[in-house]
Amino acid sequence: MTPLAIKGGSPLRRTPFPTYVTIGEEEKKAVMAVLDSKVLSDFLGTWSPQFFGGARVQQLEKEWCAYFRVKHSVSVNSATSGLYAAVGAAGVGPGDEVIVSPYTMSASAAAALVYGGIPVFADISPETFCLDPESVRRCVTPRTRAIIVVDIFGHPAAMDEIMTIAREHDLVVIEDAAQAPGAMYRGRYAGTLGHIGVFSLNYHKTIHCGEGGVIVTDDDSLAERLQLIRNHGETVVEAKGTVDLVNMIGFNYRMTEIEATIASEQLKKLESLLVPRIAAAAYLTRRLGKLPGLTPPVTQPQTRHGFYVYALRYDAAKTGVSRDKLVAALKAEGLPIFPGYVRPIYLQPAYQKRIALGRDGFPFNLADAKNPPSYQRGICPVTERMHEQELLYTNICHADIKEQDLEDFCAGFEKVFAQLHDLA
Ligand SMILES: *Cc1c(COP(=O)(O)O)cnc(C)c1O
Repeated sequence: MTPLAIKGGSPLRRTPFPTYVTIGEEEKKAVMAVLDSKVLSDFLGTWSPQFFGGARVQQLEKEWCAYFRVKHSVSVNSATSGLYAAVGAAGVGPGDEVIVSPYTMSASAAAALVYGGIPVFADISPETFCLDPESVRRCVTPRTRAIIVVDIFGHPAAMDEIMTIAREHDLVVIEDAAQAPGAMYRGRYAGTLGHIGVFSLNYHKTIHCGEGGVIVTDDDSLAERLQLIRNHGETVVEAKGTVDLVNMIGFNYRMTEIEATIASEQLKKLESLLVPRIAAAAYLTRRLGKLPGLTPPVTQPQTRHGFYVYALRYDAAKTGVSRDKLVAALKAEGLPIFPGYVRPIYLQPAYQKRIALGRDGFPFNLADAKNPPSYQRGICPVTERMHEQELLYTNICHADIKEQDLEDFCAGFEKVFAQLHDLA
């Protein structure tokens, strides 16, 4: 048997894995048409037809509504902007608590801070890595106003259970579906399951337009508030006749015509980009699932996983080799594999030092003095265990990966697992 690369043997794979390319002639042609029109954006921050943006922006929103079967789509310049707008539209104000997953991109929690809301971190499920409804329930207090649920890695969160909790306590649910366009849950699209859903169109996501996002909702009043926050609401409310001024100080979150037309083309490709992801994941699961200590990602019943990321769990007790040692050996074989995902958000300096807006600790200093949210290590033990000991992931589940790449990836795992005794 060839020795492990980490022990000086030759790596199993010497060439890089293919990168994911979704942009083709269709997008090029569409962009040229926008350039020929000379109108690169057609928004105005006044109560006028242009308040809703240009023809391509409105076209994209119409297509998004039809595709995802929602009443309203509001395009924005990023999912981060989308999450901020969603928290604003939900009416979150200074001192309100917002329950959020700690195992996600940082903007999911920063969105609360921007409106003076205080993020409260609930733990995740070790099966799906999404919020654990029981942990969410334990985090609800009289100050809770909203829940930000994340369909992490492309697997929809336990939305039925979360919506039940929300109904009981009159909370707004914002679904961060940045990683899950096209994923499904009990017959409905991920992103359309909460009161507001947010999709990302940044370069790294399943479909993209460079930078961009789309917010969806079935609620007329939330849609109106999202549009005002996107586009200088404070200058528009009077002429528009909006009476509820809460959080109607707007931003410029507007998408350009160029991004919108690219996004329209990308949406047409979504299904054909998703099917190969699911097939690649199935291949990996068939082979890697046979190795000791490895648990491939689960897809819950009546659910379609989007496989933005293929995340495995690893039990070092079964092999005697730590995850980080294992990952180092796999990397040495030339495999794109990573230990953990992002550090639990509450361990970031802003939370540890409770400094967000200004120098006096706002909004953390508004917390309930008797029961302030904790950001101490240990508050979300499952998240910490996944991050520090068990989770490893790869992003090779995509449409440009060939069978040979999957074969090499699995062969690299099999090579390392056959010689684990050398690593112990
Ligand atoms: C990428 C991502 C975002 C932010 O998306 P942008 O469009 O880059 O702002 C938010 N949440 C999650 C879970 C993401 O993966």
